[in-house]
Amino acid sequence: MKYPEQFIKEIPKTDLHLHLDGSLRLGSLIEMSQRCKVELPSYSEEGLKELVFKKNYSSLKEYLHGFMYTCAVLRDLENLERSSYELAVDNQRDGVRYIEVRFAPQLLVDNQTLNMESIMLAVNRGLERAEKEFNQRKEVIEDLEPPFRYGIIACAMRMFGKSNFSPYYTKLFSVHHYSEPIEVIKMGAMELAQAMVKIRDKKGLPIVGLDLAGQEEGYPAEYFKEAYDFVHKNFMHKTVHAGEAASAKSIFQAITDLNADRLGHCFFLFDPARIQDPSIADKEDYIEKLASFIAEKRVTIEVCLTSNFQTNPDLTDIRNHSFRRMLEKRLSVTLCTDNRLISDTTVSKEVTLALDNFEITPSALKHLIVYGFKRSFFPGEYYEKRAYSRRVIGYYEKVAKKYNILEDRESSH
Ligand SMILES: [Zn+2]
Repeated sequence: MKYPEQFIKEIPKTDLHLHLDGSLRLGSLIEMSQRCKVELPSYSEEGLKELVFKKNYSSLKEYLHGFMYTCAVLRDLENLERSSYELAVDNQRDGVRYIEVRFAPQLLVDNQTLNMESIMLAVNRGLERAEKEFNQRKEVIEDLEPPFRYGIIACAMRMFGKSNFSPYYTKLFSVHHYSEPIEVIKMGAMELAQAMVKIRDKKGLPIVGLDLAGQEEGYPAEYFKEAYDFVHKNFMHKTVHAGEAASAKSIFQAITDLNADRLGHCFFLFDPARIQDPSIADKEDYIEKLASFIAEKRVTIEVCLTSNFQTNPDLTDIRNHSFRRMLEKRLSVTLCTDNRLISDTTVSKEVTLALDNFEITPSALKHLIVYGFKRSFFPGEYYEKRAYSRRVIGYYEKVAKKYNILEDRESSH
């Protein structure tokens, strides 16, 4: 079924997997780089689109190349605040009412003015300003529309090296000269976990979750157990990039070793060929059991269609994306952008892509959208989260009625 473009835009949406450093405005990146004397390969939007932020990428390496420039300009408090503000505003204009912005603070620490606390405060200032401006609108005050809310997720890196990552990581290696690299990596994650809990509690910031990002292969979840246990015992939520580049086994480890509440991507969840572990004799059976377990536990998968399409050249038709089987198996899923700039996308574009290529009835669409709010790491008490979700559902129904999108009786979820 075809849905009007304006309907998709107006329904209240979420983005639970949204990297700050992959989602800058291109014009702002150029301006900010000039102010901070960060060298770019081009200073025009067209030039950067041709050289860095492409429509299609030949490899994951090429896709990740742009982060080098965005992280360089974000090592500045003013740029961090501005980028966070603009990211929230751009989402509001797309009808997105709730975002969880993620990034790796340790990639931005410069050992000078930027420390983890000043970074988290700058990002929060930008998001908070955008939230206040939006919620001062008459429609929100008069309860005709739900307000805009946000949370912040901190990413630990699965892998970082002695050089080329950030001044912080380089220094961490240099002061732990005699430690094995993996010990330094584990230490980095644990330090981040402790910093995030302490900064959240001391400053009252909506730091709602811990994430694990970066190279999956060779860096299993178990290495980060201590960091995840720490946040778990401090009432912080947990998400993990898993099955983005590695197999179902990596997804299994994220939920069993790290107690993940949500999972990023799970692109290779249903791919038996990717499982290398010789102890898994019946790969199909393993996948069936794992998928059923995830569904039963309502561990929500943050699906990023465009991003997966761009980083997996083997996926020639989006209809073959594992999202199809996730829907068939009744997994809990939510649509996300991953990187608005690098993937040249928005939540509305992702929803449209899903509707154009997969079987999604009006009722299923409503469930899919509302699930983003229900499975969010909402910064507030549970009864507040429920009240917010109710307002969102009421508004969704109002918009659906306006566009005459009638729910099918037989709900597929
Ligand atoms: Zn991601």
